[in-house]
Amino acid sequence: QTGDHAVERTIRHNDRTHVLHSWSAQAKIDPLPVEGGLGSTFWDYQGNSYLDFGAQLVNLNLGHQHPDLVKSIQDQAGKMATIQPAFANDVRGELAALIASKAPGTLNKVFFTNGGAEANENAVRMARAFTGKSKILAQYRSYHGATSTAMALTGDPRRWANEPGAASVAHFFGPYAYRSPFHSSSPEEESARALEHLESVIVLEGASTIGGIIIETVVGTNGILVPPPGYLPGVRALCDKYGIVYIADEVMAGFGRIGEWFAVDAFDVVPDLISFAKGVNSGYVPLGGVVMSDEIAAIFDEKAYPGGLTYSGHPLACAPGVATFKVFERDGILAHVRDLGSRVVKPILESWLHKHPSVGEIRGQGLFWAVELVTNKDTREPLVPFNAAGEAARPMAEVVAACKARGVWPMTNNNRVHICPPLVITEEELRAGLAAIDEALTVADGFVR
Ligand code: PLP
Repeated sequence: QTGDHAVERTIRHNDRTHVLHSWSAQAKIDPLPVEGGLGSTFWDYQGNSYLDFGAQLVNLNLGHQHPDLVKSIQDQAGKMATIQPAFANDVRGELAALIASKAPGTLNKVFFTNGGAEANENAVRMARAFTGKSKILAQYRSYHGATSTAMALTGDPRRWANEPGAASVAHFFGPYAYRSPFHSSSPEEESARALEHLESVIVLEGASTIGGIIIETVVGTNGILVPPPGYLPGVRALCDKYGIVYIADEVMAGFGRIGEWFAVDAFDVVPDLISFAKGVNSGYVPLGGVVMSDEIAAIFDEKAYPGGLTYSGHPLACAPGVATFKVFERDGILAHVRDLGSRVVKPILESWLHKHPSVGEIRGQGLFWAVELVTNKDTREPLVPFNAAGEAARPMAEVVAACKARGVWPMTNNNRVHICPPLVITEEELRAGLAAIDEALTVADGFVR
């Protein structure tokens, strides 16, 4: 840490003058200049360091400056910095083969993109080409990206400002036992009723018009909603019954986040397409993609695939992807995530249910957890209203400030604190971060009525 304040002033000046930031009213934000990061920690120019409990948008699965990933990029840059997609390339092919080796069922071929939204755009393109049907069903409480079709699929307020969006999308409710849209009283009932609802939507929207259903295997930003038993196999069965392609969006949940290569592996289901990004190479160089079934891949054997990207399968992005697989295997990342999730995070969060009057529910798996904050445990009224801004969002802003003051950079959404640190976090760091959040939750307790 240099603590160089002159450098910090220049960074701030250039940023405020010339950079337009995502999703923000520019006059209302004050982006923190970050000097560096290592593992599960990053630091600013003021001598403050933070445990990165959001992993930079649930992206940095192997943490900041992982030496194997950095070296893989350096080596690749020295060897061949780029080559356009029409050529065959060693690291691109190697990464596709590794992904296929871990993907379930017959998902054996990969189309590479630059990130998650483009992955979903192309998954939709494949589903439409395969079925000849254009409509796509997507869940409320979902995020699928900010390009036009991905935005139209998104089931959260970020879609509203982009409407009217692309046509031919309809939304349905997924399971969410704590705030059940189906008034169910158990996870099994939630699963059954959510499937009944989905089938009604399919019938009423017209099965003959629906080419795909896209579902985040574990809903991420919109609440870390782990599907109840039987739900995803039920979706699979409905897709088979009505000739619909099942697209699993694993941009956030894939690549170890819940302790599985692909999150579907935890739920006993094989989709037709899986979109991925983020954790595939911890976002060191932008990369995403779709892994598809043999049946879908086969339609593009004789018919041209109607899509492409200049940077599809960029070698500088694929090299850290290949390195990611090696690190996961060598360092036992999946076992580490499962162990920390079940042995450390779960019991600590469960203790908060008793300790904090503001903690209404905790849920999650692996290193992917949500703590849902309420003003009243009986009514379950959220600590802040849905999509709150300004003064209405103050209780959450105060919780966030209390976390930061204790050295944890949290990830929050609406009335929830999400716990999603880098997967390489040590037990000691994890316990320290959770202890800091535990203290910060006393601020939320102050708003309980
Ligand atoms: N899908 C999911 C589940 C995501 O969480 C995100 C991003 O957070 C996306 C898609 C979009 O990915 P990207 O921002 O790389 O376009």
